[in-house]
Amino acid sequence: MLPNKNQEILLAKTFGCVRFVYNKMLAERQETYEKYKDDKETLKKQKFPTPAKYKDEFPFLKEVDSLSLANAQINLQNAYNNFFEDRAEFPKFKSRKHKQSYTTNLVNGNIELQDGYIKLPKLKLVKMKQHREISADYKIKSCTISKTKSGKYYISILTEYEKEIKSVIIKNVVGLDFAMNGLYVESEQGEKVNYPRFYRQSLDKLAKEQRILSQRKKGSARWEKQRLKVAKLQEKTANQRKNFLHHKSKELSSNYDAVIIEDLDMKGMSKALHFGKSVHDNGWGIFTTLLGYKLKEQGKQLVKVDKWFPSTKKCSCCGAEKPMTLSERLYQCSCGYVADRDYNSAINIKNEGLRLLALA
Ligand SMILES: [Zn+2]
Repeated sequence: MLPNKNQEILLAKTFGCVRFVYNKMLAERQETYEKYKDDKETLKKQKFPTPAKYKDEFPFLKEVDSLSLANAQINLQNAYNNFFEDRAEFPKFKSRKHKQSYTTNLVNGNIELQDGYIKLPKLKLVKMKQHREISADYKIKSCTISKTKSGKYYISILTEYEKEIKSVIIKNVVGLDFAMNGLYVESEQGEKVNYPRFYRQSLDKLAKEQRILSQRKKGSARWEKQRLKVAKLQEKTANQRKNFLHHKSKELSSNYDAVIIEDLDMKGMSKALHFGKSVHDNGWGIFTTLLGYKLKEQGKQLVKVDKWFPSTKKCSCCGAEKPMTLSERLYQCSCGYVADRDYNSAINIKNEGLRLLALA
């Protein structure tokens, strides 16, 4: 997106107002939570105001797209629900350093694509470079506008289509075992899929530049220069990763009618096993989301196997189970079966998926 000066000012205001409203609402929830946390039933019944309430007290909120504020409330509500249902920690306040973004929705033609421009609420026509064409049977649902740390503006457009999806008869099935050092191992040839070398090289470069940044004096000219370098590299690696995950999920969803994966709790896993950041950053979450919707579009299926299913311990040949330590790379069974640990798991995951598909 290439906004003009006035649009940049309004965008900055919108990011600020969204953050402001989010934090206000979060503070209210925090207070309510502290008050009733020992009485979950009463806590559950508490009602919270809408952003409209703040507009009288803080008239500057009227200047920006009101849908952006409504979405801030929805985001907070989701974060709060996730906390409430034990899926996440208590939502955190958004700081100025937090990613700047807001979401708006299509209502009565307020968003429109016009030959190199996009019409957006309050902003009117904003110049943009479109990366992917939106076909005529797709309808715009919402737009998320963001500003990167290096100062670039992006808009991602969420669409929905009215096309009816017919379920595919499932013939070709593959099981994937999540791989800590890479992405996954698949059940058909035992192929280990890892990120491309150029991506891993950019990651190394990023780590090096981050180290340099940490050694510079915060706020100095040299620090600022390095900060920008790091921000650009971060965006580059994130894009490389996303492109690769798009590519891989597309390949799998064209080659197979169903993909079976384990329903992993990545957050719990990195905590329990002390793997720290590496598991989080592996991209497995993004990958399975992309895979899920690419399969769904074609009437195909992503099947999740229970996280307690003993995919590692089980012999994929005779079904016997035995303990496996993390360092054992080979699965050797008393029945004579020998295979790579992850390959054996991938086959087990596939077979469990086939069982679930037969039940459905
Ligand atoms: Zn066996």
